[in-house]
Amino acid sequence: MTVQNVKVTPKLYRPPHPVDWCPGCGDFGILSSLQRALAELGLLPHQVAVFGGIGCSGKAPYYVSSYGVHTLHGRVLPYAQGAKLANPELTVVAVGGDGDGLGIGAAHFVNAGRRNIDMTYILFNNEVYGLTKGQAAPTMPLGMQTKALPEPNMQNKINSLMLALTSGFTWIGRGYAYNVKQLVKLMQEAIQHPGLSYLEVLQPCPTYNNIHTKEWYNGEDLGHPRVYDVQEEGYDPVIPEGADEETINAKMLAFMQKANEWGDRIPTGILLQNRAIPTYEERISQKIPSYRSNPPAVRDVRDENGYS
Ligand code: SF4
Repeated sequence: MTVQNVKVTPKLYRPPHPVDWCPGCGDFGILSSLQRALAELGLLPHQVAVFGGIGCSGKAPYYVSSYGVHTLHGRVLPYAQGAKLANPELTVVAVGGDGDGLGIGAAHFVNAGRRNIDMTYILFNNEVYGLTKGQAAPTMPLGMQTKALPEPNMQNKINSLMLALTSGFTWIGRGYAYNVKQLVKLMQEAIQHPGLSYLEVLQPCPTYNNIHTKEWYNGEDLGHPRVYDVQEEGYDPVIPEGADEETINAKMLAFMQKANEWGDRIPTGILLQNRAIPTYEERISQKIPSYRSNPPAVRDVRDENGYS
């Protein structure tokens, strides 16, 4: 794409120095997807800021030639939200690992969802703390034992898609690091969504996660890929502006079914696109109706037939 006589190509976003992730790391697919997504949206590097947390993926701002900040452990979202509020014209993308975002950064994840500021958060999910030798991260399933663990993991995993829903993220999607074509599209949709978007990317870590490998995601033991695209099966993620309660409930239920699917089939694609919730920017530019003059209806579900 050509903007202001500048040809915007992914090359414009490539760094002048080498990238030091391990050979075969899923991070490479996510990085090249981000460079392509930004270029194909016609954004110039000075219009973009990439914020990283701490971890292997937290180094991504060094590898995207735009504005960028390598922030503190777990604190990427406050930095990124502050930048967006100070400069609303900026395209803001926060990136980080599952340990960074859902361990020490979990409170920021939840509170960012409540605000719904117009920016994007991309979470690299490899289920381990790769930078510090492969400890179990908050997304590792209960009982899984990767090669760095002396015992099976004793804690249950966070379902980040469900957490994003209940926190208030208004665009939720999932990609796979080795499906770059789909990932580019997902990143573009996430960046263009008005409001806070959350994109989880399943990312094999060939150095420390010897269970959920590229071969596992490809379903070599099953004879079919585990990861599939929900949009190819006709899944519609959109909650339209002004949707009634029945529509919202049906969409939430469909989302929860996809968010809890894991094992032989793992959904990817756009899982939720909620246009019924105003952004933070809209809330501060319009007068919010008083809660007192407009109280929500309260009902006892025990009075409803069939509730158990
Ligand atoms: Fe990638 Fe894992 Fe190496 Fe980190 S430790 S760079 S996540 S392969």
